[in-house]
Amino acid sequence: MLKKIFLPLLLIVLLMSRTEAGTWSPELRVGILSGVKQVSLKVSAPCVMLNAAKGNVLNKIPAGGSFTVDFEHLKINAVEVRPEKVPIQELTIEVDGKKYYGGVSVNKGKDSLTVINLVPLEEYLHGVLAKEMSPSYPLEALKAQAVAARSFALKNRGRHVKEVFDLCSSTHCQVYVGVTDFDSINRAIDETRGAVLVYKEKLIDTNFHADSGGMTEDVADVWGRATPYLVAVREIVQLATPWTVKVPAKDFSKQLDLDDVKTVKLSKLTVGQGASDRTSSGRVQSAQINGKKFTGTELRQKFSLPSTLFDMKLDAGEVIFTGYGRGHGVGMSQVGARDYAKEGWSYEKILKHYYKDTKLKKLY
Ligand SMILES: [Zn+2]
Repeated sequence: MLKKIFLPLLLIVLLMSRTEAGTWSPELRVGILSGVKQVSLKVSAPCVMLNAAKGNVLNKIPAGGSFTVDFEHLKINAVEVRPEKVPIQELTIEVDGKKYYGGVSVNKGKDSLTVINLVPLEEYLHGVLAKEMSPSYPLEALKAQAVAARSFALKNRGRHVKEVFDLCSSTHCQVYVGVTDFDSINRAIDETRGAVLVYKEKLIDTNFHADSGGMTEDVADVWGRATPYLVAVREIVQLATPWTVKVPAKDFSKQLDLDDVKTVKLSKLTVGQGASDRTSSGRVQSAQINGKKFTGTELRQKFSLPSTLFDMKLDAGEVIFTGYGRGHGVGMSQVGARDYAKEGWSYEKILKHYYKDTKLKKLY
């Protein structure tokens, strides 16, 4: 009698430990291909093909099986390929030869297919981190990036709901490349498993950029919406090296649709000091050229400047920009995270430096 109860119990415990303990994470739908007429797929483990709307099995695919989904022959709105026996995080699938964790959904649009990767969040992070930060960065910096990327994904989940997926795989959301395998990155993700950043118990927008150049920027000065945890913070470790961009005066005038450039008016840059034409971090709000006003963002875009933290002058037929940092300056600086980690800071301390008054929270 005892044996009769014990065996099913043991089986349940074993099944739970295999499918849940320590391996489960929320499933994301990440758009990886669109506007295609067909897609070739190859699975690593036995799979089923389902009618996505009804859930009924249409086909079974053996381990190593490859097949093509074709726009002309697909008669229903969407099919899903999911593993038949193993948990979804243990499946890999090749999509036109590129390997991804998890399964896929192939959706039929008006005249083409959209391919969506059905991927658990923790596995998704492997395909994001390797693109966002060098695997050679110190572990605590990689861990800070893992928490930032995880929080961003959950906070922005459903951003592409009209296209029936959660996130795209380009810079619009986060660049995502599928399966990668770097020991340092694997460790950074595992050691922060399920951890996100919250402000007053709510998930935060973890914007980040390459290099603050000495001080980060208040989000209100970039995108015009004040956010209590995305304020300008001064860097404690300062290793910023300046950059220079030179533009021939003729090209400069032409780009701005001006007659020959004669005067350039912009206050001198001191990083971390505001002015009437600069934000509190010193980034250019506006500059006057031949008496006409141009915003720092406009100038950055027109002349491909690394940031808006710059000085500019007219000298010997050239307009010379000298500045610091790379990127918009909002939130965590990746170079800063690297430098703080080298100084011995923990990932938690790094994150709290860049995202004011936030807390780490473990969701699972
Ligand atoms: Zn997107």
